[in-house]
This record gives sequence, structure tokens and C-alpha cells, in this order.
Amino acid sequence: MLIVMRPDATAQDIERVNDEIRRRGWHPHAIPGGSRTAIGITGNPGAVEPEPFRVLPGVADAIPISQPFKLVSREVKQEDSQVRVGDLTLGGAAIHVIAGPCSVESREQIISTAQAVKKAGATMLRGGAFKPRTSPYEFQGLKGDGLALLAEARKETGLLVTTEVKDTATLAAVADHTDILQVGARNMQNFSLLEAVGETRKPVLLKRGISATIKELLMAAEYIVARGNTQVILCERGIRTFENMTRNTLDLNAVPMLKALTHLPVFVDPSHGIGVRKAVPAMMRAAVAAGADGLIVEVHPDPPRAKSDGFQSLDFSEFEKAMGEVRAIAAAMGREMVRLG
Ligand code: PEP
Ligand code: MN
Repeated sequence: MLIVMRPDATAQDIERVNDEIRRRGWHPHAIPGGSRTAIGITGNPGAVEPEPFRVLPGVADAIPISQPFKLVSREVKQEDSQVRVGDLTLGGAAIHVIAGPCSVESREQIISTAQAVKKAGATMLRGGAFKPRTSPYEFQGLKGDGLALLAEARKETGLLVTTEVKDTATLAAVADHTDILQVGARNMQNFSLLEAVGETRKPVLLKRGISATIKELLMAAEYIVARGNTQVILCERGIRTFENMTRNTLDLNAVPMLKALTHLPVFVDPSHGIGVRKAVPAMMRAAVAAGADGLIVEVHPDPPRAKSDGFQSLDFSEFEKAMGEVRAIAAAMGREMVRLG
């Protein structure tokens, strides 16, 4: 249920509605809009009777929400949500590109990559420190040292940073060192982790699980938003299909579907999405053409020698060329690619 307040509703009217919701043992969620406030209800075991709310002062309407994801749904909020990261606004007219290595490997590697991706037009740096690897014998990341190197790269270049939070045990340390918390595909339904990042007030990049439906991705986002953290960006990163010529199948269908179903910004990860270095630029272009609000791309100074995901990482010149092409697609779509000063 969504309680829509009249534009002239007072703070007292809003509090009265909140009290009525709490009195029933449910939870009110304020959803600020351009011209009016709405209040979402969660925690209700069954359908909510609209009438007792419709008669309260300041209430314009009480609308049932048909989707199981409520707070992230377009039904609840028509305008696009924007996520503030430092001075950047993600999910606005501008398209943002987050770029960097799969894993932070050394000072030299992360700083040279940060400088190169910034020069090519990326507005944020990525780099894994705690890596979720399929094999326990593969490189697991530099962990705490990796976080410190990301902080150095941030200081050196001014690029804000995204890194993955792998579990609740390391959440506090990761949150201290990153501007966006990345929740990886393998953790999309780690509900304890979703609840814990929902308790923080850090922006979250939530990646779609390898076999997750669009609805499951939205339900995962709902876990985070229901805990009060509304700063969520969704990320399509490819799903597992029968096709094995590529690492995953980048489901660009998800972009227009998500844009219609939710007000949250939608990013695309073409690197994991296709998993083939030479094909990544085509999927960067396609994602922006499909309406993505941003990209997250793996870039490495020497892809064949990368400690993880070198086969899908662009080198500096490939990334720069791809960014030029993406800029043209963005312009054709009426979007701009901002550059840091
Ligand atoms: C990554 O970004 O390097 C990563 C592990 O992504 P995903 O969770 O999408 O596999
Ligand atoms: Mn990777």
C-alpha cells in the first residue's frame, strides 16, 4: 500500500499516518517526491484496507501496490531515483563509467589504472580487494592491503572508489574505505549481507545473481531499501544460459524491463556479461543504447598478466577507444558523459 499525501499536507498529517501504520505493527517509509510525499508500508502480513487511511487528514489516496517489491517499485515512486556519491549524481541525465581492474594487485597497477581510466573519462575506480573466487586456490585479493591501495589511488586521482563487500565480517572495514559497496553476483541472495548493507548509509551497487530473475534482483534490492538504505544501484552482469561460447549471456533485456519496473538507477557490467575481451566494447555500446545509466568495466595495464579476469579486461588504449564510441552512443541517446575536472 502506498499512502499518497496531498501537496498541502502538514508534517503533523504525515506523522499521524506514520503513527497509524506503526500502531498496526507495520513500518512506514517516507518516499519524497517532486511535488508530494508518499508513505510506503512494509511489514503488513496481508492486504491493507485503504479506507482507514483515505479518511485521515492530508491524505490524497491510498493505492494498493501490485508488485511484491514495493519500495523499489515504480508504482511507489514514478521519478527516477538518483544516488549521490561524493559530488557525483548517479542515475541522472549523465552516464557514469566505473572502471578499473578486477582485483587490486599492486600500488603501481592500481594507480596507473586509475590515472588511465580517469584520462579516458571514467568517473569512478573499481578494484576488488576481497575476491569471491570459484576456486579456493585462485588469487583471493589483497584484502586489507587492497583497501589501503584503493584509498591511495583515490587520493592520487580524486576518483571515487567501488569495491566488493564479500561478507558481514569485513563490512565495516570495506565501508570505511569505499564510496560504493559492491554486492557481488554470488551474494545477491545473501540476505544477512543485504540486511547489513541496508543498515549502512553507503551507496550500494547490487549485481544480479548468476541465475537470478529480474524479480529476484528487485526483491534483493528491496531487502536493502527496507532497512532504510535507499542508495541502491542495480547492475546487470550477465546470467548463466546454455550458451558457452561466452562466459555469461549479458541480458540487455533486463535494462528496459528494470527501467520500467523500478525507479533505481541501472548499470551494466559488460566485462562479466560477455567475458570476452575483444567483445566488451560492443556490449558497452549496446548497454548505453539500451538505456543503462552507467557501466562498470574491467581495465588492466597488462590483461594477459592479470591475477583475475584478464581474459575480459581491456587495456588502456582499448578502453580509451571504447569510451569514445560510448560517448557517441550516449549523445545519440540524449545523455551526456561527464568528465571529472
Ligand atoms: C567483479 O566485479 O569482479 C565480480 C566478481 O563480479 P560478479 O559478482 O558480477 O561476478
Ligand atoms: Mn572480475
